[in-house]
Amino acid sequence: MPSHSFYLQQDEASRLKTILEGTGAGTWEWNVQTGETIFNERWAEIIGYSLEELQPVSIDTWMKHAHPDDLALSEQKLTAHFRGDSEYYECEARMRHRDGYWVWVRDYGRLVSRTLEGEPEWISGTHIEISSSKQYEQRLEQIKAEQQQTIQRFEKMASLLPGVVFQFEIRPDGTMTFPYASAGIERVYGVTPEQALADGTIVFQAIHPEDRGFVEQTINHSKKSGENWICEYRVINEGVVSWVLGRSKPEFKPDGTVIWHGAILDITSQKTLEEELRQTSTTDDLTGAANRRRFTEVLSWEFERLKRNGAGYAVVLFDFDWFKRVNDHYGHHVGDLVLRETAHRIKNELRTGDTLGRIGGEEFAVLLPQCDENSARQFAERLRRSVEQLRFIGFDELRGTITCGVAISDRTDEKPSQILVRADQAMYRGKAQGRNQVVVFDYNDQDSG
Ligand code: GH3
Ligand code: MG
Ligand code: MG
Repeated sequence: MPSHSFYLQQDEASRLKTILEGTGAGTWEWNVQTGETIFNERWAEIIGYSLEELQPVSIDTWMKHAHPDDLALSEQKLTAHFRGDSEYYECEARMRHRDGYWVWVRDYGRLVSRTLEGEPEWISGTHIEISSSKQYEQRLEQIKAEQQQTIQRFEKMASLLPGVVFQFEIRPDGTMTFPYASAGIERVYGVTPEQALADGTIVFQAIHPEDRGFVEQTINHSKKSGENWICEYRVINEGVVSWVLGRSKPEFKPDGTVIWHGAILDITSQKTLEEELRQTSTTDDLTGAANRRRFTEVLSWEFERLKRNGAGYAVVLFDFDWFKRVNDHYGHHVGDLVLRETAHRIKNELRTGDTLGRIGGEEFAVLLPQCDENSARQFAERLRRSVEQLRFIGFDELRGTITCGVAISDRTDEKPSQILVRADQAMYRGKAQGRNQVVVFDYNDQDSG
């Protein structure tokens, strides 16, 4: 083959040159003593020029185009090589492309001659463009660093969380494990992340026996429905009961494994607070009236005062008429609206010291201190009328009416609640007599009431 024989005819130097050109390498030769420099066409091409455009070339051509930061490193390495510390000169450096961006090159070189005095003379080398692999490497480094940061941030957040961040897995054969659990799992369950990884069932053993079945049910439901797992339950760790709230999202693997990703938060303090609030609350959420417990309390204070020669008091008990119909016809939320608006209106009718209480669903009572029967009747009548006149925006036809039972205090009562019983009897008489009216309790009616 002609080309083959041609190839064999070339001397070694030009053969090497051909090989280098085949690799896309730029070549350079530099006489350290005289400054004479030779580049090939590819050397110039890597940075976007023709060799001709770069003429006249010298070592300054390299200095001018290389990144200043990388030049320092290059010089260091060259010096080391000249000293004989390294067999090759090798360096990665950026060069400014004609279009302004930086091109990464791998610069290899080797001293080929020295002067008679032993000073470095000719050195030759290659430039191989490595921009894309360099960029890839840099991006990889960056991603690694970002991931590391994210993990650290995540671990830090997880450690601040009053609970556990976890992955929980059920395999097709039914085995359970926690592939990941933050350190908090030990605080909540008394189990280390390693133990939970080895055997997920030990975590379940820490769940309060009364709640365990329920927790398992909710997990099964999430597994079947694909819905998030949300569950509140108790955990016992070293004899101490705490409340936790678990939330997680299931992920379904093709092999039938289900992995839940989520967190379990310790909500013991919220639970305790909620309970305390419930215990100490005095008002009804819907209407803002005193709740039953509070009303009973205020009533018993009045009762005690009366016993110590205080003034008499009255109770007006009232219940909405036909309230089931309101709910049935307009819906429960409109029923709620009626209760709220009515309570609001009634509060405006009260004197300081009077107490409106919500006794039952749509049954209320007003306690009127220092009030005789006549004033109480008048008050109740005013109440009845103002409720009757109430209009509800958006529900023109809607009317609420109430039936009121009035009773006054009796020094012979043994219990504060007896006045409520009397008011209730009077109210039921009013219901029986046609509703939307005021009835005052009368001892003479007792047998027939
Ligand atoms: P009556 O005139 O005999 O009192 O008739 P009624 O339909 O009002 O009968 P009752 O008092 O026995 O029934 C009360 C109804 O009020 C039953 C219940 O569904 C409804 N109710 C109780 N509490 C609430 C509440 O908070 N909101 C609403 N919307 N409805 C309530
Ligand atoms: Mg009613
Ligand atoms: Mg009722």
